[in-house]
Amino acid sequence: MDGLPLQLPLHTTPTIQQTLKSAIDCVGIGLHSGRRVRLALLPAPAGSGIVFRRTDLDRDIPADFRHVTDTRLCTLLGLAEEPAVRVGTVEHVMAALSGAGVHNAVVALDGPEVPILDGSADGFLFLIDCAGIVAQDEMAASIEVLRRVRVADGDAFAELRPSAFGLDMALSIAFDAAAIGRQALTLRLTPETFRGELARARTFTLAGEVEQLRAAGLALGGSLDNAVVVDGARVLNRGGLRMADEFVRHKLLDAVGDLALAGAPLRGRFVAHRSGHALNNRLLRALFADTANWRLAPPPLAAVPGRQIAAAA
Ligand SMILES: [Zn+2]
Repeated sequence: MDGLPLQLPLHTTPTIQQTLKSAIDCVGIGLHSGRRVRLALLPAPAGSGIVFRRTDLDRDIPADFRHVTDTRLCTLLGLAEEPAVRVGTVEHVMAALSGAGVHNAVVALDGPEVPILDGSADGFLFLIDCAGIVAQDEMAASIEVLRRVRVADGDAFAELRPSAFGLDMALSIAFDAAAIGRQALTLRLTPETFRGELARARTFTLAGEVEQLRAAGLALGGSLDNAVVVDGARVLNRGGLRMADEFVRHKLLDAVGDLALAGAPLRGRFVAHRSGHALNNRLLRALFADTANWRLAPPPLAAVPGRQIAAAA
């Protein structure tokens, strides 16, 4: 049953599953392939989750961490037994859907990569706003983290810890490039904080890496229109940065998208330093490797409308 208007306050985590009110589409280019792709966001039944659909191949890939087959430059979903059935750069549209509280949707594409748009999640959030969101007729479960799970690679690490609320996040980054340097951000993920703090932060790259990527046949669609390019202490984009700490905000946006591949909203605390797509995916694999690490939970009381004040007191 669709059609219930969205009436939950924006600052709550939805307790009822939500999907899009209507279908919407756009055309853009893939960052790595440089190919023009049509993307459509479609409503989907309760309980179906987010599914990527290759309309040119007539095949579906569930947005599931177990289908991540490459994390070197983006998060790529694929079917292991059919390498041609793949979708690259899923993280920003996943972040937008997760950040907006959409549980069920089909992301339909006529090519192998989600369009990069302006390098942030802002364009996807705009599409979701245009389509509208409706509540469905099933409660939304969340994945509750029961004990600390940690993965590391050198000094980079990512952890999930128990938390009484939805997804609390703390991330720090460190780059030699002076324009980036060390940045840290702590945030409780809600539709409101996602929209206000993360959605507009763009992907970024170092000027020295651009030529290497091009030589490897990657970033063919990359430009100053869809990525921040840093050269030492300088930001090469004419308009500069959207926020002074746009870099850590984008990394947190990426983590929201990568963690959304858990299949349901996480209730836990994400703490990470220099984590990227690979560590984020390893973290989910580690979480679900042991059933003692997690359980499927009903929504937290704090998310029930009307209990806000009692919970916050
Ligand atoms: Zn990104």
